Amino acid sequence: MTKIKSERVILAARPNGAPRPNNFGIEDVDLPEIEDGEVLLATRYLSLDPYMRGRMDDRKSYSAPTAVGGVMEGETVARVIASRHPDFAVGDHVAAYLGWVSHAISNGTGLVKLDERFAPPSTALGVLGMPGLTAYAGLLEIGKPKEGETVVVAAGAGPVGSLVGQIAKIKGCRVVGIAGGAEKCAYLVDELGFDAAIDHRSPRFADELATACPDGVDVYFELVGGAVWQAVLPLLNEFARVPVCGLVAQYNGLAAAEKPHFLAATLGTILTRSVTMRGFIVREFWHQRSQFLEEVGGWIADGRVKFREDVTQGLANAPEAFIGMLEGRNFGKAIVEVGAPVA
Ligand code: NDP
Repeated sequence: MTKIKSERVILAARPNGAPRPNNFGIEDVDLPEIEDGEVLLATRYLSLDPYMRGRMDDRKSYSAPTAVGGVMEGETVARVIASRHPDFAVGDHVAAYLGWVSHAISNGTGLVKLDERFAPPSTALGVLGMPGLTAYAGLLEIGKPKEGETVVVAAGAGPVGSLVGQIAKIKGCRVVGIAGGAEKCAYLVDELGFDAAIDHRSPRFADELATACPDGVDVYFELVGGAVWQAVLPLLNEFARVPVCGLVAQYNGLAAAEKPHFLAATLGTILTRSVTMRGFIVREFWHQRSQFLEEVGGWIADGRVKFREDVTQGLANAPEAFIGMLEGRNFGKAIVEVGAPVA
């Protein structure tokens, strides 16, 4: 077999605030021939997720930072293009934590063969993957929504928020989504069946949110932090539950006007140290993966859960797409179609 070159995106320099294109570098490396017990993988889809911003900083968190010069981390869906491993055949699709690379060699550890019964393979990075499990377990185990309660979720058009809202509807709740811009808000109400959606960029955002929640808020699924959290805080009902899952508004640092608020730091600690209110990292719920796939896969099959993907073409465009996702330019699960050629 001809030698394969793997294209890869590395962390060239740590960002200060929002990442810029020059924080990333692209390089090619030659891969050796595979040996017995190994497979050669061609990445089809790379997932872009907000947590990757945290890995670009050199600070203590729940996972180690990416080294400068190291490959950007990330989940992928890959196709087996050569195999000397008994469990994998050419053509199999697998979920794998390969990072931002076009090709890789694996000894099979950590590869999960995809069940394509319910939806196409790319969904293993979104609604049927890590973000989907985050929404499912975080809402049901920590939010514990009851019929008739009001559930509010920000980043409502993204993979986590959109599934949180749809599951809450299935459980009989009133659901209010928060999203950036009229198009995303219309999608939440018209396509996903949320009861209301509020644009967090509106100058009257806090008032509009209060009006949309006349009975207060029983479950607030925190994905954003910052100014959105400050608007939700006074609306929380007695015994409200707040799964603290993400703080994307704070990942690039806070605007000067928000800096004096000690709340931001408090929430960051609650999230990364999983303290009460209650912070969580999805790996806590890996054991629920089969139950999640059956249940959410079933809801997709019968049309009760819808999903949307925002696909960027080509690995070289991944940095720009990642920067855009942190600013809300994605509309749906951000993925890159790497489109590595089949050998
Ligand atoms: P999304 O695809 O929803 O992307 C992030 C979205 O956040 C943007 O599209 C944007 O949407 C919104 N956003 C960005 N800045 C702001 C802001 N200042 N105010 C309000 N909204 C903002 O991401 P995911 O669904 O993949 O992830 C959502 C959150 O969940 C993230 O915080 C992520 O870190 C967290 N997460 C946590 C996990 C865990 O284990 N704890 C696992 C997976 C995800 P808009 O246009 O609507 O503003």
